[in-house]
Amino acid sequence: MSHFPCAKEIDAKEVLKEKGLKSTPQRLAVLHVLHESTKYLSINDILDKTKELLPNTGLATIYRTLDVLAEIGLITRVHFEDGCHTYAYSSDSHGHHIVCTTCNKIMDFAECPFDDYLENLSIKTGFKIKNHFLQLFGECNECAGSAS
Ligand SMILES: [Zn+2]
Ligand SMILES: [Zn+2]
Repeated sequence: MSHFPCAKEIDAKEVLKEKGLKSTPQRLAVLHVLHESTKYLSINDILDKTKELLPNTGLATIYRTLDVLAEIGLITRVHFEDGCHTYAYSSDSHGHHIVCTTCNKIMDFAECPFDDYLENLSIKTGFKIKNHFLQLFGECNECAGSAS
């Protein structure tokens, strides 16, 4: 971890500042861990890797930090059918995921099918809709192929 903090963390500091959040060592460490990883990480993976940077980090801190970072859109949370979650550093754009229920592969798709729908729903209900979550479950083509 020689390049901690990396360039992305400096962006992250700016984003945290814009959102009125302090750049705590825990937040920056968790962002660093997720940014370094090319795959989605479980809570325990994140805890282990964060501890390499900040040895005193506890699980409760990780949960709190992930909640905050997910809420401001800096990281993406993916749900699994067994109730577990994994996390990844988020690109700037809003998007959705498809999860393979056989091998847990995660596919990102950038399009959001809801833009017009939510505008209409907002008018109809009077709710100012700030956020939404949609995730699809299915079988990836590899798993679908090997089953037949
Ligand atoms: Zn699969
Ligand atoms: Zn969307």
